[in-house]
Amino acid sequence: MDNQQPKDPQNPSGPVAVKQLKVKVDRDLCIGAATCVAIAPKTFVLDSEAKAIVLTTADEESPETIIESAKGCPVAAIIIEDEKGERIFPK
Ligand code: SF4
Repeated sequence: MDNQQPKDPQNPSGPVAVKQLKVKVDRDLCIGAATCVAIAPKTFVLDSEAKAIVLTTADEESPETIIESAKGCPVAAIIIEDEKGERIFPK
C-alpha cells in the first residue's frame, strides 16, 4: 500500500529505532504468520517475500503493543531491545 513505507528502506526488517525501542525481524525465522501485523498494524506489514518489515508509522504504535506483537510471534522472530541495547524480548 502507498502509505506503508519501510521506516528504514536500507533495512526494512530492521534493526530500526522506534522511539526508545530497537526492533528487528529475523527474516530467516519469520514464516509470514502475520500475527505481528494483526497485533501492531502500524508497525508491521509483510513484504513481497512474506517477511515482516517495520513501517514508518511504527512511531504511532505504543511500545507495549510492539512488545505484545513480539510475544505473539509464533517463531519469536521479532527481537526488541531498549535504547541501551538490552534485550527486552525474547529474553
Ligand atoms: S508474527 Fe513473526 S512469523 Fe509472523 S509475520 Fe510477524 S515476524 Fe513473521
